[in-house]
Amino acid sequence: MTKIKTAMIAGGGIGGLVTALKLHRMGITVRVFESVETIKALGVGINLLPHSVRVLTELGLADELKAAGIPTAELLYVNKFGQKIWQEPRGEAAGYHWPQYSIHRGRLQMLLLKAVKEQVGEHSVRTGHHLKSFQMMGGVVTAQFENRKTGESLGSYGADILIAADGIHSAVRKCFYPDEGLPKFSGRILWRGLTEAEPFLTGRSMIMAGYQDQKFVAYPVCPQTAQEGRSLVNWIAELAVPGEGPSRSDWNRKVEKDVFAAPFANWDFGWLNVPRLIEETKDVYEFPMVDRDPLPQWSFERVTLLGDAAHPMYPIGSNGASQAILDADALGEAILEHGDAETALRAYEDARRGPTANIVLANRKNGPEMVMQIVEDRAPNGFTSLNDVITQRELEDISNQYKQIAGFDREKLNQIVGAL
Ligand SMILES: Cc1cc2nc3c(=O)[nH]c(=O)nc-3n(C[C@H](O)[C@H](O)[C@H](O)COP(=O)(O)OP(=O)(O)OC[C@H]3O[C@@H](n4cnc5c(N)ncnc54)[C@H](O)[C@@H]3O)c2cc1C
Repeated sequence: MTKIKTAMIAGGGIGGLVTALKLHRMGITVRVFESVETIKALGVGINLLPHSVRVLTELGLADELKAAGIPTAELLYVNKFGQKIWQEPRGEAAGYHWPQYSIHRGRLQMLLLKAVKEQVGEHSVRTGHHLKSFQMMGGVVTAQFENRKTGESLGSYGADILIAADGIHSAVRKCFYPDEGLPKFSGRILWRGLTEAEPFLTGRSMIMAGYQDQKFVAYPVCPQTAQEGRSLVNWIAELAVPGEGPSRSDWNRKVEKDVFAAPFANWDFGWLNVPRLIEETKDVYEFPMVDRDPLPQWSFERVTLLGDAAHPMYPIGSNGASQAILDADALGEAILEHGDAETALRAYEDARRGPTANIVLANRKNGPEMVMQIVEDRAPNGFTSLNDVITQRELEDISNQYKQIAGFDREKLNQIVGAL
């Protein structure tokens, strides 16, 4: 049985960096190869669910997260008129042992990068190294890298294992599944922005308004702005669009607001003014809502997939980053248990492939947000009493079912404390 001593990670995004921290703690020599020349704080807001905050806390990042994120206090679903459908406490307010954080994705990535440099080593992350190809031979995996911009070859590196955390357009996934093609378009586009505004509701609330084909999501992400009595609000406007959609998904494509703003013009709920939020935002980014079909296999001898490379999903239910972090944790635990590369990577896949496939499929049916669609179908003109439209039992069942699927059922998660 060969013990894993070295690991090579393709991709310095959320999943890759957390994997580096986890494997380093286990005594493995880790190197991260990131395609972009300079890692910048890109993206807008994301959410970290309590199960992923647990993993980051174990990696010693509790204080850093507290300084960078807003501990989400509640989640609200409302219809397109702002009438309340569902409200539940979140994170510690809901009795979890760990907070849920709303956080700027770029800030999270920079926080993780700093931790990797401090804990693993200043030179453990090689930027400007795009993984091009790899081979497995003689008990090692060797990968070739290039400069993405110039095409210049940057040589080969070898390690006991290769973890592909190279995102939704993963080069490694493409080697195993060459005929897969582009991600699958949902027929819906997301427009995302960040703007400073008056705090709404608790000042730590996450709200979703509307239904499947026209939705607006908003939550604050910056604790420093909150200390000044304001909110840096992350928002997402979502619309169904006719046709095939954009040919490639790029998280940083800027667009003009008039592409999508008109249908939201009347969405002033009193406690949240959607058109004003859109109006006052400087930069808006467009991202087609895409995913990929669940795969039959992630681990191939000494190579495995992780995060969006393994299971890109619709950004529903606050799961994209959280599931990548859970993957990193599960991979580390599998290696700890098995040692041998092939057995460990298979055990990691066994632990994570099924659960993440279930989330991909649940998100195609709107995940926990399906209650918004049910209410739209049954009461498109609004309601006097919610009970006439949907029962409390139905609402609770849908919410609880999704928590089970996504692995953050409170009782189960809190039991882990005993094992720490
Ligand atoms: C620039 C950017 C902005 C984003 N903004 C948002 C957002 O605002 N909201 C949201 O919900 N999600 C956003 N995401 C996606 C979100 O980060 C992921 O869904 C989630 O965090 C899972 O992380 P991941 O590490 O698997 O993938 P990612 O975070 O996408 O990271 C993948 C990394 O791999 C690198 N890479 C790609 N190909 C190669 C290669 N061949 N060799 C080496 N490195 C490679 C990429 O540059 C990237 O840094 C963004 C992703 C990116 C890359």
